[in-house]
Amino acid sequence: QNMSEANIVPIIRDAINLLDPTFKKNNIHYKISLPQNEVLLRADTIQLTQVIFNLVLNAIYFSPAEGTIGISLKENRQEIVLKIADEGPGISPENLNKIFQPFFTTKPVGDGSGLGLSVVHGIIKGHGGTIDYKANQPTGAVFIITFPKKTLNH
Ligand code: ADP
Ligand code: MG
Repeated sequence: QNMSEANIVPIIRDAINLLDPTFKKNNIHYKISLPQNEVLLRADTIQLTQVIFNLVLNAIYFSPAEGTIGISLKENRQEIVLKIADEGPGISPENLNKIFQPFFTTKPVGDGSGLGLSVVHGIIKGHGGTIDYKANQPTGAVFIITFPKKTLNH
């Protein structure tokens, strides 16, 4: 890990820009919503980019043609929240407790190693954050990453 205090807004924007050709090739749209102001987080830039890549590549893989992927970053007093939402089939209830395990995959042999989400989970944990899944409406997956902010006790 190579942690430093960084504005994560351009890190997220740069990661999505690198994926732009992949979106285009797969006929997938994206909507990115980032704050105007800086969002400071003690983070490993390369690891954070890896997290965005793994989540967005999954979202692209499972998206229907012409689907839209939403990427949003929000900050409040207590936490920083990054969401990645797609319009694919979402994750079935029986698989929900397995998706962060290494080598779990529902992709055909050769398409996936099943390592992406376990790597994401490890990186987020290493940053003191959490990752949660919720179903998108009317269909799809939403991954929600939360980094709690250190609060001063009076
Ligand atoms: P891989 O992409 O190699 O399958 P991952 O760890 O990235 O491995 O994902 C594990 C599994 O979690 C996937 O095979 C799929 O079943 C499920 N999954 C992950 N992301 C999504 C998504 N956006 N929509 C639907 N299912 C997903
Ligand atoms: Mg993957």
